[in-house]
Amino acid sequence: MAAPPAQTVLIVEDDALARTAEVFALHQAGYRVLAAGSLAESYQWLAEVKPDLVLVDIGLPDGSGWSLARQLVAGRVPVVILTSRSDLSNRLHGLMLGVQDYLTKPLGLADLVTSVAAVLRRAADGPPAAAP
Ligand code: CA
Repeated sequence: MAAPPAQTVLIVEDDALARTAEVFALHQAGYRVLAAGSLAESYQWLAEVKPDLVLVDIGLPDGSGWSLARQLVAGRVPVVILTSRSDLSNRLHGLMLGVQDYLTKPLGLADLVTSVAAVLRRAADGPPAAAP
C-alpha cells in the first residue's frame, strides 16, 4: 500500500535554534516541513503553498504572529501557537481567535509532535463543532 502524501507543516519561528529543532522533530515524524523566520517569509510560503497546519510564534521580528494566526484561522488553516507567552490574556486571545492549540516554551519536541498529530487528525475528521 502506498504511503499517503506527507502533510505539510509551516513553522514560523524567529529563534533559529528552536526552529531547527522543530523542523527536525516534525520531519522525523514524517511531515513535509517548511520554515519561516519572520512574518514576511511566512507570507512568501503561503503565496505558494497551502499548509495543512501552521505553527505560529507570537513574537516575530517584523510584527505579531497574531495577525498571521487570524488570517489563517479565517482561511480555515489549522493553527498551533508556540510561544514563551504563558499569561492568561494571551491564552484567551488564542482561544477566542479559534486556534487549535496553544503551546508554551520551553516545550519538549515529543509534546510538539503529539500536538501537531492530534490537530491534524481532528482536521481530517472534519470541521470542529461550533463553539458553545
Ligand atoms: Ca519569537
